[in-house]
Amino acid sequence: MSHSHHERNTLIRRRVTQPKHCEAGLALSYRKGADVADKFDKFVLGLDLDGCVADFLQSMREVFAEWSGQPIETLHPSPRYGFPEWDLDMVQYRRLHRFAVTQRDLFAKMQPVAGAPQALRRLSAEGVHIRIATHRLFIPYFHEPAASQTIRWLELHGIPYRDLCLIEDKAAVRADVFVEDSAGNIARLQAHGVDVLCFTNPSNVSEQVTAPRAVNWTEAEEFVRERYYQWRIARGLQLPPAPGQAPPDEDIAQPNELRSDE
Ligand SMILES: [Mg+2]
Repeated sequence: MSHSHHERNTLIRRRVTQPKHCEAGLALSYRKGADVADKFDKFVLGLDLDGCVADFLQSMREVFAEWSGQPIETLHPSPRYGFPEWDLDMVQYRRLHRFAVTQRDLFAKMQPVAGAPQALRRLSAEGVHIRIATHRLFIPYFHEPAASQTIRWLELHGIPYRDLCLIEDKAAVRADVFVEDSAGNIARLQAHGVDVLCFTNPSNVSEQVTAPRAVNWTEAEEFVRERYYQWRIARGLQLPPAPGQAPPDEDIAQPNELRSDE
């Protein structure tokens, strides 16, 4: 079924010699499409940030303590989405969110979830293509700070990524496996046939989700690596010799790093 690279090139060359108007011409354009797609035949990890990689809740708790003048220890430590345990309604929640992003640089100052940057660096070094999908453009006329704070934060914490999708509809983002914490997004991704790992946190711990769960990045890393190894085995590719190491004979340039020949 699968052709070697040489065989594939031979097939493509053979088709190039056929007249373009005949059936083989159609096959050629199809093959061309397939060949272009090959370049993108990477194992893609679709990655949500808030609640999975960035500790959104803890930062919002600090900002809300300041905003409301309440001692932080009196605030419920694990409120649900919209923070009803802090007596916020959705209008107040959005007001707080806007203040946090625009006046306290929330997206630039959150702490990473424990172990996330390290796990993502190891997976990236092994050849996992990290594609971030985060819905952060929800405050009118504050897209520039939302985007620039996000990029600054990712670099500050050395989180490797190859694509950054600021998007609400995550099902529009192709990925082989997704790490996500919102029960609604998880259900929607699953409805589109996407393999999803639920990253457990206070916002979803009591939610019914059918996706497998990870309670920390040790578990999430293992889950993603297992799926990645299955993907490589299905393609007859060698496995990385150890976590954090590139597969044999593959020079995987890391984002923000020079290749060995540069
Ligand atoms: Mg999230």
